Amino acid sequence: MLMVAATVLVLVAAVGVSAAVVSSMRDRIGADPAGPPSTSRTPRATPTRPTPTKPTPTKPTPRQSSPTAPPTSRPPSSRPPSKKPPQTGLVKNALYGLELKRGSADCSIKVRRPKPPLKNSRLKPYLEDLVDCMVKIYRGPLAKIGFELSTPKVKTYSGTVEAPCGELDQDGSPAYYCSADETIYWPVTSDDDREAYTFARLGYVGLLAHEFGHHLQAETGMFLEYSYAWAEAGTKKQLELSRRLELQAQCFEGVFLSYASDSIDFSANDLAEIREWHSYTGDEDPPESRKPDHGTSKAQIRWLLRGYESTDFGRCNTWKASKKSVK
Ligand SMILES: [Zn+2]
Repeated sequence: MLMVAATVLVLVAAVGVSAAVVSSMRDRIGADPAGPPSTSRTPRATPTRPTPTKPTPTKPTPRQSSPTAPPTSRPPSSRPPSKKPPQTGLVKNALYGLELKRGSADCSIKVRRPKPPLKNSRLKPYLEDLVDCMVKIYRGPLAKIGFELSTPKVKTYSGTVEAPCGELDQDGSPAYYCSADETIYWPVTSDDDREAYTFARLGYVGLLAHEFGHHLQAETGMFLEYSYAWAEAGTKKQLELSRRLELQAQCFEGVFLSYASDSIDFSANDLAEIREWHSYTGDEDPPESRKPDHGTSKAQIRWLLRGYESTDFGRCNTWKASKKSVK
């Protein structure tokens, strides 16, 4: 989520990378399945004061390696035969060599405002259309740098849903990405002003672009690397790793908004709405109930703008950024 953050869950159990990663994920997501219903949420916001909603939490899931496989193994799908495999690390990744041209994405998307919210029967097909668009405009560029992009699935739900990454709670995040089954989990919302993204014209598009950013992290091997690093880190370091992951997804969202800017008629007003939206999604808001795992509002906006202003994945390397810039 990222605040918009999406919960990227990883299928750790199947991979056996680390039970710690799994439980942490559960802590994050279900922060309070048994606790007070809304300790982590602020009181309902008025129409002009959207409540903070975290981007989805992200959980890494090693995809292809077996429990005993060394960290160096990579998914077969990212290795073009007879070609040198692309770099799949966090700091060094072939994706960083991909700079796109602003407005050049040939993808017509109908932008639907999240207000009033789409009913479930129309929400899922719409989100799938958005996903198809993203796959369509990224598949070619990614293939050129050695990655085969798959189409993530979309699952909508109400309340809670059982995913390979654990039980996902609608109250925990406005959307989740689970790398274990490459699925974006999206709760059906009501028109109650609880989700900050619903106030932006590009709320659906932006939030989905963030979640898709986690899918890109999975497809380029970064999620797997993240899960290994996470498993070996202490609590403080784990939170820093989580922020780097989430802020990178923010930056990827910015790359998409620029790349597809013509298709979505991106305007100065849209940018102002997105800034407003993310002003409610930082770790500092509300301070008492939020773990510093997604970054402050300022950091979220700054990283989104880095991607948006450059259309360059190379500008989204949060893994080599200073600690200060991922607070
Ligand atoms: Zn996220």
